[in-house]
Amino acid sequence: MAADIFTLGIDVGSTTSKCLILGNGEEIISSAIIPAGTGTSGPGRALEAALSEAMLSRQDIAAVTATGYGRNSFEGADYIVSELSCHAIGAHAMFPDAKTVIDIGGQDAKAISIENGKLGSFVMNDKCAAGTGRFLDVMARVLELDVSELAEKDAMAGRVIPISSTCTVFAESEVISQLSKNVDICDLVAGIHASVAVRTASLVRRLGLTPPLAMTGGVAQNAGIVRALSKELGEEISVSPLCQLAGAYGAAIHGFNKLKGRK
Ligand code: ADP
Repeated sequence: MAADIFTLGIDVGSTTSKCLILGNGEEIISSAIIPAGTGTSGPGRALEAALSEAMLSRQDIAAVTATGYGRNSFEGADYIVSELSCHAIGAHAMFPDAKTVIDIGGQDAKAISIENGKLGSFVMNDKCAAGTGRFLDVMARVLELDVSELAEKDAMAGRVIPISSTCTVFAESEVISQLSKNVDICDLVAGIHASVAVRTASLVRRLGLTPPLAMTGGVAQNAGIVRALSKELGEEISVSPLCQLAGAYGAAIHGFNKLKGRK
């Protein structure tokens, strides 16, 4: 049956704008990821791209739900919801059995427990760049790589070169110093990933490690991080190809539930 109720979720992130349109609360009709976040043209472009792919106009959308770091600056939202709630809802839709969600975005990292398909409790790091996408963005730049290339380098590592500094600025100096010794870049990438994994694992342990685990956010696209974190926690971690869209997905589901009068 063709969808007749369309809801749209927009996740106005710190670095990236994500938009997803859902039909009847279930079917993903279209989505867009624009690498420009809050305070830029990114949110508007993501919205337009998702509408255009779906061949819909704003008037066809029954509810727009904004989430993410810049959600309050987005004009025209029917609902505004925290990204913690939306990641919980989105992750639950992707992995109905997941009890704990790890979301690493551009400038924060969160461990979220899911209770009855919704946000339970959470622990987050939004004070320090280490352990977030920002840390990986900085390291990739020093290594003259794109973040999307980190996973394949990690997969070719013969050993892990430990990064001892926890501060991003000092860790960057440490990586530069290692590069000057002509070490294998793959081993260095494995060390960078291990350092993010240790920090993220401590967030998860503070929340309470309750499997099954799922990971959302842009950094979950990095299979090297997922592998290192899985090793650190001793648990498998499920990741969807839609991981970066989890917040927008959850927002679109939230909008549909509101229309249906569901809690
Ligand atoms: P935010 O909502 O804060 O903007 P996202 O959840 O969209 O954050 O994640 C952004 C981060 O995802 C970037 O900082 C980057 O490190 C990472 N990222 C984006 N694309 C990729 C990719 N293809 N491979 C690995 N990491 C990626």
